[in-house]
Amino acid sequence: MSIKEIYQTMEYGPAPESNKESVAFLDSHKRKFSLFINGKWTKPSSGEYFESFSPATTQKLAQIAEANEKDVDDAVKAAKKALKPWVELGGHSRARYLYAIARQIQKHSRNFAVLESMDNGKPIRETRDIDIPLVARHFYHHAGWAQLMDTEMKDYKEIGVIGQIIPWNFPMLMLAWKIAPALAMGNTVVLKPAEFTSLTALLFADICKQVGLPDGVVNIITGHGGTGAALVNHPDVSKIAFTGSTEVGKIIRRATAGTGKKISLELGGKSPFIVFEDADLDSVVEGIVDAIWFNQGQVCCAGSRLLVQESVAEKLYSKIRARMETLRVGDSLDKSVDIGAIVAPIQLKTIEDLVQKGKDDGNICWQPSWTCPKEGYFYPPTLFTNVSPSSIIAQEEIFGPVLVAMSFRSHSEAVKLANNTRYGLASSIWTENINLALDIAPQIKAGTVWINCSNVFDRRDLVDIESQVMVEKAAKRACTNM
Ligand code: ADP
Repeated sequence: MSIKEIYQTMEYGPAPESNKESVAFLDSHKRKFSLFINGKWTKPSSGEYFESFSPATTQKLAQIAEANEKDVDDAVKAAKKALKPWVELGGHSRARYLYAIARQIQKHSRNFAVLESMDNGKPIRETRDIDIPLVARHFYHHAGWAQLMDTEMKDYKEIGVIGQIIPWNFPMLMLAWKIAPALAMGNTVVLKPAEFTSLTALLFADICKQVGLPDGVVNIITGHGGTGAALVNHPDVSKIAFTGSTEVGKIIRRATAGTGKKISLELGGKSPFIVFEDADLDSVVEGIVDAIWFNQGQVCCAGSRLLVQESVAEKLYSKIRARMETLRVGDSLDKSVDIGAIVAPIQLKTIEDLVQKGKDDGNICWQPSWTCPKEGYFYPPTLFTNVSPSSIIAQEEIFGPVLVAMSFRSHSEAVKLANNTRYGLASSIWTENINLALDIAPQIKAGTVWINCSNVFDRRDLVDIESQVMVEKAAKRACTNM
């Protein structure tokens, strides 16, 4: 389409981001990645590799090593050996490494963003403007904590070797959330990325080499669930930090019980998004876009259950439908795309099956009039209305771009509906009345309650969970944006 035609129709033209640098990175490893153990690229002892695909194009990106028990043991041994000198360096010297990592991430941010979009399928706008800048901020932030540790946090002590198992929805951000605070507090780590999205963690290994991080402080082992299980069961791992499915979280809880290992688990959610009749409905609509269509809805604290006061329900639904019609689904490297690809066919199938069950239960399903690109693993934004609270789509985490809506009449009914789930990760409340918001917030059984915003995070939590200190913390934080 010519620029003149674009001006006439005001249609979006294609705006592809160059993948040159990321392709060069993949080629520099001959598209076959080893494990990063003790500061060196190490072939997997099994000799096995698996393939990583781009979900937006279905093209093969690279072969990734499958680590077995022997490789996990080697990585843990390296981390154990590196522990004492890393602790003895002191917070101030560790901070210098963390600052150096942060600067390198900023320097290579475009490459990280493009590679993440290629590997995960999420829009380049999100990786470029949200994920990677936040990754750099996390390393800067925790460099600051490391610097302050000797003077301000004298009671804090390292835990030891930490096994970190992360999912595919925010690969680099999860890596930063886990690695930055752990290193700051003097721990060494063995990290296993998710099998669908290992590439940015492997690029991060290159950064660790570039800044001269002492060998063994960070080890990256790739593989499937069996690799994760070997890490969980290793006797020299002092803590497991896991983010992923509730099902695997339970397995890890059982495997670590009675071993003395510490664990932190961040699992699933079915977070309520509660809209009272006095809310600013246009802001609510944009809040919903952020809550459920951000990252294709593959967010553990996604606002996936919309609870709306009956008096404004139909008005809000029609505003949401109008907005959905304008959302653009497509190639993750296109800068004007709002929703990218679903990470893998298995995840796409789970979404399709749950949507079908939602229809079978008699809930009303609405999707925009346009169709998704045929190549790649795409799913359109989807809205269910008149949903029964007991329906499977109101209870199960879908982990896709599917919003389920139901209405309430009284404030107490809103609270009951919000709490009618086995999850308790996050929630958000929308009203122009601060007194109402502050009355409802403590009644919601969720770790975080956002007011007039959603998916806003607090970095301060991470230092506490990655160090040996008993901190009396309020379980609930109210984060307001009024
Ligand atoms: P998701 O639904 O987000 O893919 P999973 O819990 O399946 O969640 O995966 C999250 C991470 O846990 C991935 O890195 C995966 O390889 C790993 N994993 C899967 N099964 C196990 C297991 N039994 N023990 C340890 N880690 C596992």
